[in-house]
Order: sequence, then C-alpha cells, then structure tokens
Amino acid sequence: MEIKIEHLEKEYKNHFKALNDVNLTITDGMFGLLGPNGAGKSTLMRILVTLLKPSGGKVYVNGKELSENRKEVRSMLGYLPQDFRFFVKLKTWEFLDYAASMAGMTNKKERLKAVDEMLESVGLFDVRNRYANKLSGGMKRRLGIAQALIGDPKIIIVDEPTTGLDPEERIRFRNILSNLSQKEVIIILSTHIVGDISSTCNKMALLNEGSVHFEGGPEEFVRLADGHVFRTHVLADEMKNINERYPVVSSVPDEMGYEVELVADKLDGLKGEVITPNLEHAYVYFMEYMAKKEGATV
Ligand code: ADP
Repeated sequence: MEIKIEHLEKEYKNHFKALNDVNLTITDGMFGLLGPNGAGKSTLMRILVTLLKPSGGKVYVNGKELSENRKEVRSMLGYLPQDFRFFVKLKTWEFLDYAASMAGMTNKKERLKAVDEMLESVGLFDVRNRYANKLSGGMKRRLGIAQALIGDPKIIIVDEPTTGLDPEERIRFRNILSNLSQKEVIIILSTHIVGDISSTCNKMALLNEGSVHFEGGPEEFVRLADGHVFRTHVLADEMKNINERYPVVSSVPDEMGYEVELVADKLDGLKGEVITPNLEHAYVYFMEYMAKKEGATV
C-alpha cells in the first residue's frame, strides 16, 4: 500500500489556510502525524477519508487519484474520527455489526463471527449487550477503534485516538495498533501527544501551522535535539528565572533546589551536562527553537 500526498492545500471558506503545500509518502506500517492543536491534522485526515475536498493538490492511493476513485478508496478505509459519537440507540454488538455491514461484510454468519472476534480483541465482549451510549468513556473509545478496524481495512486512520483515555487504556490502545502494524496495512495515527508516537511508528511527520516541518523516522527526529538537552542543578530562588529563559522539560526537587532537564539552543552561562534526548525533548526543541526559525523545514 502507498499513499502519496502531493502539494495538498486546504483553504476554508473564511479564507483560513489550514494546509499549505503538504507533501508526504506513506507506506505500510504505522505512520505518526504529530503536531500541536490547530496544526491541520484533522483537516488532513478528513481529506484522506474523502469527507473534505482539498483546495489544491492531489492524493494517490496505490497510484489511483483519490477524488476520482472515492468509492474504491473508501472501501479500503477504517476511520476513527476525533469526535467519534453514536447517533443511534444500538447495543454494542449491534453497532459493530452495523459498522461491519457498512464495511462491506454481507455474509451474516461471517459478519457475526468477525464482530465477536473484534469485541474480544478490544475487550468489550463482556459488555456486548450493553447499549453503546451507556459504555464508559474508555469503552466508547475502544468501540470506536473496533468499528474502524472491522472488515479488514487496508488503510486505518485514527485521529487523536488517546485523548481522554487513562494511562492503562492508552497502553492497551497502542498495543492493539502495534499488533496490527505487523500486517500489510497503513495505519495513520494523528496526535498532539508525543508519547503516542512510540517506537512502533516506523515513520513520522511533524505538522505545524499547516506545513510539514519534518518527515522521517522517530530516531532521526530525536537526533535533531542532540546536544540541545541539558541536565542542571538550579537553586530554588533561581527557578523562576530559568523557567522564563528555557523550556523546562522536568524539574525534580533535590537538596539544594531542583534538578532540571531543559532544552536550549545553547546554555548561556549556565553549567549543565548534555543528556541524550528522547522524543519529547526533540518535540519541545523543535517547537521552541526550530519551528520559530522562518521557513524551518528538515
Ligand atoms: P488539528 O487537528 O491539528 O488540531 P485542525 O485541522 O482541526 O487542526 O484545524 C486546523 C486549523 O483550521 C485550525 O486553526 C482550525 O481552527 C481551522 N479550521 C478547522 N476547521 C475549520 C472550518 N470548518 N472553517 C474554518 N477554519 C477551520
């Protein structure tokens, strides 16, 4: 599978430009689309699932242009929107059965088997007879995932999937997706939560103000912050000043004040040791220093 996005633009009716010359190539595996709120992630996702028309540019799915092959592409898609809700009063299994028929599963026996298996794999089998709107927040989210995954979609698009989930649910969700990423499918995970872009993402992009600022492997992204993350000790009464001067990633009280991890282009007069960056450090470094440099693209 391959999705090729070429010179994609989206200008909303109020002339707000939400996407600006977006170019991306997405192949099998998990692709993480990271960016702050308002970056244009949902706009891009909605274009990919054919709910929104771009103002310019093209999307190709396995070489076929999206707007000319909407029906065919839709049949390959599973989508979990950011604001997934149930509009109909159905039991959990009925809702999934409905989603399965919408995904093209016409054989009732096969469909019911697939529904049971899916309920089992997202941990909702025990509540299958409960009305979907009576499920807990986390369970609703899981049902959202289940409806996106049923019918063996070749392209799975999940928009901010872990928002509102507790840590346990979040891990469970990541595991479901990473198991799937072993198959020959494309999974696009859009998120503003750095922790969602785990090592299971073989590729990622950083979207900021409608433009792609980085495209590559997560480890490559982390390397951008090499030499820019520091550990230092700060006296209690200096802490305010440090917070004003640098993005502080963590601060832990110690005997003198605080042990601080911070991100900086360079340490001006402050003593500190360079530490190995992680993905969160790299994101903070990128947003605070690189994205602000005009036209920064890596
Ligand atoms: P994200 O998913 O990264 O938070 P969105 O794609 O939802 O970003 O939004 C990108 C930008 O486009 C935001 O500034 C948002 O306010 C704006 N936007 C989204 N939908 C519309 C719309 N229908 N009309 C005008 N502006 C919109």
